[in-house]
Amino acid sequence: MTQFKNFPMVKMVVFGRGSFNQTADILAPQRKGDAPFVFVVDDIFENRPDLISRIPLEGKDKVIFASAEDEPKTKQVDRIAQELKDEFGSTSGIIGIGGGSMLDLAKAVALMMTNPGSSADYQGWDLVKVPGAYHVGIPTLSGTGAEVSRTTVLTGPTRKLGMNSDYTPFDQIVLDPELIRNAPKNQRFYTGMDCYIHCVESLTGTYLNAFSKSYGEKALELCEEVFLEKNTWDDDSDDKLMMASFHGGMSIAYSQVGVAHAVSYGLSFLLGTKHGIGNCIVFDHLEEFYPEGVKKFKAMVDKHEIHIPTGICAGLSDDQFEKMIDVALFLEPLWENALGSNWKDTITRKKLREMYEKM
Ligand code: ZN
Repeated sequence: MTQFKNFPMVKMVVFGRGSFNQTADILAPQRKGDAPFVFVVDDIFENRPDLISRIPLEGKDKVIFASAEDEPKTKQVDRIAQELKDEFGSTSGIIGIGGGSMLDLAKAVALMMTNPGSSADYQGWDLVKVPGAYHVGIPTLSGTGAEVSRTTVLTGPTRKLGMNSDYTPFDQIVLDPELIRNAPKNQRFYTGMDCYIHCVESLTGTYLNAFSKSYGEKALELCEEVFLEKNTWDDDSDDKLMMASFHGGMSIAYSQVGVAHAVSYGLSFLLGTKHGIGNCIVFDHLEEFYPEGVKKFKAMVDKHEIHIPTGICAGLSDDQFEKMIDVALFLEPLWENALGSNWKDTITRKKLREMYEKM
């Protein structure tokens, strides 16, 4: 019997320019006595009073700045959760403010406030057994779909893998397009392309179904509109990119990503390459798998005059290539979605080595 995925969605969503101003009202009913809300915020905002001064702090509420230079690590999650437990016992909730890394960090910390052991014990599918602390996502970059996903991608001691569970999605998200207005152009592009690549991988995959298709087509249309058709970046572009990210995330929720993600996870694990730029580096070389998608991607890169790094695998040792290949091959559902059940006929270790050598 086919087992259809039964998946949770984000419980509450607020969308609109300036909706961040409602955060205090949204949080108030969730406050449990004097247990604080903890805001996990990208440290690029540390000197940005325009955002920081608007975070509604009360009582023992706390802001923790975290760097998005590296993607979240299991050790980092464990350390933050332990410090919060030592300091407060429990919290009223964890609120992530930032890009995909910050949202994932907040989700993981929320789960580790209530689940025993290390977050590394929960990297995988449906290993989390206890609901986490109440958690809220407030994106300041759009594209990853982390605001809607049922995972939080962590780099652990042996692998880069998410804590995929029904308890992972946010209880609340605040989608305020004003917050993504000041994103640096390159960063906005790389993260926006993550969304574009989600759409291409979902829409061309063997797991495609009407649910994923309806969200994926809309997200793809929005990405192409903002990155290919429009000639200036304006408020409307931010609104649309924010919705593209949401729809792209919903599309892969009921399908899967593909070749670019599998290969880029290898780069990320070994070299620490960030998700958005890593996907761009990989996707640039995937004409063989996604001819239409790559052609349009290259057009977007040209139009926005974005530099996609090359030669990042030059000089790696055989062992290092082998490690990246291990990480990529471990992600079987991604390959199966991209190429069907006989994917091993095409994707051999030799083939992957050749692919990495080009990057
Ligand atoms: Zn992605």
